[in-house]
Formats: sequence, structure tokens, C-alpha cells
Amino acid sequence: MSYQHQKIAETAQLLKKRLAELEDKSRILRSVELRALFDELKTLPPEERSGFGQEVNALRQELQGLVDASRDEAEQPPPIDITAPFGVNSPQPQLLSTEQGSRHPLMTELEQILDIFYRMGFTAVESREIDNDFNMFSTLNFPEGHPARDDYDTFVTVQKDKEGKPLIAPAHTSTMQNRVLKQLKTNLKKGEPIAAVIPGRVFRNEDLDARHEHTFYQLEGIYVDKGVNAGHLIATLKTFLQEYYSKELDVMTQPFYFPFTEPSFEFALSCPFCDKKGCHICSQTGWIELLGCGMIHPNVLKAADIDPAEYTGFAWGGGIERLVMMKYGIEDIRHFESGKLDFLRQFS
Ligand SMILES: [Zn+2]
Repeated sequence: MSYQHQKIAETAQLLKKRLAELEDKSRILRSVELRALFDELKTLPPEERSGFGQEVNALRQELQGLVDASRDEAEQPPPIDITAPFGVNSPQPQLLSTEQGSRHPLMTELEQILDIFYRMGFTAVESREIDNDFNMFSTLNFPEGHPARDDYDTFVTVQKDKEGKPLIAPAHTSTMQNRVLKQLKTNLKKGEPIAAVIPGRVFRNEDLDARHEHTFYQLEGIYVDKGVNAGHLIATLKTFLQEYYSKELDVMTQPFYFPFTEPSFEFALSCPFCDKKGCHICSQTGWIELLGCGMIHPNVLKAADIDPAEYTGFAWGGGIERLVMMKYGIEDIRHFESGKLDFLRQFS
């Protein structure tokens, strides 16, 4: 009983603290923490139920009292100065004090992700938010008019590049592959690999829902050296994911098609929530498809003046939100760009 008593006391403390910050105070009565206490009540043996129930009800009544009190206070109209100029009597907008600012959860997570790759010997290069057709398609083995271009439906500007083609809001971080391969090519001459991760914001013309956003973050990775094969690719991604989720995981690849990798794979990991038993996060399959990857196509290496007969490499690209959503059980990708303070405060 003392364990349960302590649990109620801790919840009470947490909820009262949050109550002070909430704009709509009545939300505290619908909070998951309070509901969890009532749910727990149902699971208790009958002899423990009444004591626990009384305590939970007392807490609920106390919170209700606090909510009512704050409502009475809020309903007291402020005195109106009828002689004041326009604007003085209007309500002031609710603003946050600068002391309450915090980092966006995506940036915090991205730092952790990059840190894992730094420890694995990768360097990071930032992507860009506007690019040309050459980098977005041509260097990645998408010939002009190729149907695969349709899969990257994105936004273009009215401004044209040197070749008279519109500039593009990149639909994937692979738009940086050619630049990074050229920039780090000198590593190969020194007998060192090209190992880079490329985080960046990408844009797609999507129908928005809980899993699709028009703007999101991707993490690209490329690795080139002599004798690199698909085993290195799978081991690298598996090591990263196990580190990020702090958990032993199984991984699985399935054949896929991308113009810039050959062979190409869809990469799935065993569901970290249910360990392959099946749950609502993995749609009862036990597996979660996470990203696209493959061995860099010889034409992509050639476009960067790297001899595919001498060097091989792998590349991958995946959404960062997806990784973070899985880590914290976030149900809707749109929360990230929504600016909702209730969402953001959970991470501060
Ligand atoms: Zn699952």
C-alpha cells in the first residue's frame, strides 16, 4: 500500500506543477497520469481497492477545486479605464518568457544521432534547402524524363539555373551525394574511406496525414572504400540503430528500386516495442520499415570521378522524425512542425 500511496503523492506533485503552467486548467482532469491511477484501481485486489480509491478520488477533488478556483479568478473582469486610448483595455497576447525557451526535440535527437556516427568514424556535412536539377537528379542516375523522377514530387522555384531549369526544394538529402563524394575524394588517395552523414531538411508535395509531412528531416549516409559490400551496409545501420534505441535488434532487408543504388534495399528492423510479437506500432507485423539503402550505383561514382572498378560504397537515407517517433511512441509526425507548446514542453 505504501508503494501505491507514494505513487499517488508523486502524481499529485507532478499534476499540481503542470496545473500552474496550463492555460486551459481543466485539461489536468483529463490527463493521462490521472487516468492511469483510475485504470490501476481496476487491477487491484478487492481488499486494496477501497483505500486506493479514496486517495485517488481525494486527489481528483483537490484538482477540481484548484481548477474551479482559477476559473473564478479568471472570470473577475479587469477594471476598465474608459478614458484610456484604444488598445489599453484589450487583452494582451499570451507570450512565453524568454527563460522558458527550449531546444526543439528534433535538434536534440539529431545531435545524439550524429554523435553515434562520429564515434563510428563518420563526418557530418549539412544539406541545403535549395538545389538544382543536376545535383537532385542527373548526378544520381535519374536520366531526363525517367519515370523514377515522379516519385520525388517536390517544389520548384520560378527562378532558373544556368541550364534554364527551375531550382528545386530538395526532396531528399541525396542531393548532396555528388558534392560530398567530390569533396572527400582525396581521402581515397590517402587510403582512407569516404564516410559522411548528411542531415538536412527535405520537402515533398504530400497529402498530409499522421505519417506524412511536406517538410521533414532526413539523414543520408555514404561510405566508399576498396572492397565495401552490402554486409558492411547492414552492419553499420544495425550498429547505429542498436546504439540509438539502446537495445538488441534484428534487421531485415528486402529488394527495392532506387536509380542511384544497385542493388537497392528497403531496410526494416524488429519492432523495439514488442520484440516481434506484433503491436499497434508495427501494425502487428513485428517489423518496421525504416529507410532505403543500397550499394552506390557505378554511374553515381563515375559522376564524381571515382573509378567504380576500384572503389565500391553504400548509401542510405531515412526520415529523422520516424526514428524519433519510434523512440518516444509519438503518434503523429505533424506535431514536430506544429509549434504546439504542449508537445514541445514534454521534451524540455
Ligand atoms: Zn510491434
